[in-house]
Amino acid sequence: MTASPPATGPVRLTEEHLLLRDAVRVLADERIAPRAADIDRQAEWPDDVRRLLAEHDILAIPFAERHGGLGADLLTLILAIEQISRACATSGLIVAVQALGAIPIQVGGSEEQQDRWLPGIAKGEKLIAFGLTEAEAGSDPSALRTRAEREGDEYVINGAKRFISHGSVADYVVVFAVTNPDAEKPSRRLSAILVETDRPGFKVTRLEHKMGIRGSPTAELALDNVRVPVGNRLGEEGQGFAIAMQTFERSRPGIAAQAVGIAQGALEVASRYAKERRQFGKPIAELQMIQAMLADMDAATEAARQLLYTACQEIDAGHDAARWAAICKLVAGDTAMRVTTDAVQVLGGYGYVDEYPVERMMRDAKITQLYEGTQQIQRLIVARSLLARS
Ligand SMILES: Cc1cc2nc3c(=O)[nH]c(=O)nc-3n(C[C@H](O)[C@H](O)[C@H](O)COP(=O)(O)OP(=O)(O)OC[C@H]3O[C@@H](n4cnc5c(N)ncnc54)[C@H](O)[C@@H]3O)c2cc1C
Repeated sequence: MTASPPATGPVRLTEEHLLLRDAVRVLADERIAPRAADIDRQAEWPDDVRRLLAEHDILAIPFAERHGGLGADLLTLILAIEQISRACATSGLIVAVQALGAIPIQVGGSEEQQDRWLPGIAKGEKLIAFGLTEAEAGSDPSALRTRAEREGDEYVINGAKRFISHGSVADYVVVFAVTNPDAEKPSRRLSAILVETDRPGFKVTRLEHKMGIRGSPTAELALDNVRVPVGNRLGEEGQGFAIAMQTFERSRPGIAAQAVGIAQGALEVASRYAKERRQFGKPIAELQMIQAMLADMDAATEAARQLLYTACQEIDAGHDAARWAAICKLVAGDTAMRVTTDAVQVLGGYGYVDEYPVERMMRDAKITQLYEGTQQIQRLIVARSLLARS
């Protein structure tokens, strides 16, 4: 017998959840959706959207009230990312990455560090990025080479990071670096250190040209003798790997929310189009094969959404957070890819050209199967949890 992990039961959105979800949906429809095609075409960092999200306190959602945040639960953040991503995945990622970068401070930072950095991040005046990946260390962070060597009250950091979302626009990057090269366990080699990007020796060496989320700058960073005070280290030396893993437990639902939002956006475009497009003398929505495709898209999106909401509740309750975070990202990412691919099919040739947004949504969906751990890595985490309970 495999013991089922504890579950708190079905999720009912509260009045506050519904109010926030609907307000963000209106904002996304009115102010962000009209920008989405251009952001994609120009591969342009939408600073106007960043300001809009800051002005409406959306970036403040995951922060404590004492730091100027809304003090909301994980589900509230997820509802916002979902609604924004339904209109524009690049814009949804602004909210997700700001939370991702800040979680290491919330998880590992002292009260003084939290008071120092979180208020500016919650206001959206300061942007933060998460710097784990390197050219030779993707799925396997124990292969990281970036080195932080202690010299008195400072660390001197040397190395390079690859694929860092917002790396070129951020004010801070949480850099994961080797501080204990001789640690017995590879997982004890790393520390998490907050680096202000205006420090001498910090450089953006390139921006990626991407398939999707094209407005989100994905940067390669070089750290060349960057000196930071020891007081910028989050947690103890050697805790970096643990901080990164705890971060993913709260950030992966954000990517699942991006995926559900993209799927929902594509479903809405496809069903509207099916009612308007006429072939063989009637709307294609009257063709049963089109209806079946739309029904499968709707069912899969709803299933991923409900799983995601449950995962948020379980993660907040502290029930096997790693498993729930992995499960919701795995299911939502695969759903987004399938639903957006089917949306292109429903639109036929019109789905393949940029007159309609579904081709963009299909390109955007792919990244949700890759970042914050590929789908293969999510499966490893789910299997590990399952086998430990068997
Ligand atoms: C647009 C974009 C934005 C990103 N943003 C960030 C960011 O902000 N911060 C950050 O730190 N990183 C970021 N990343 C990095 C991202 O998280 C990594 O690309 C991802 O973790 C995979 O690493 P990799 O690309 O090196 O692939 P690899 O690890 O080389 O994997 C290649 C293939 O092997 C598979 N594989 C690897 N190991 C295993 C295994 N043990 N079992 C089975 N299969 C396996 C993978 O699933 C994949 O299919 C971003 C990446 C992209 C593309």
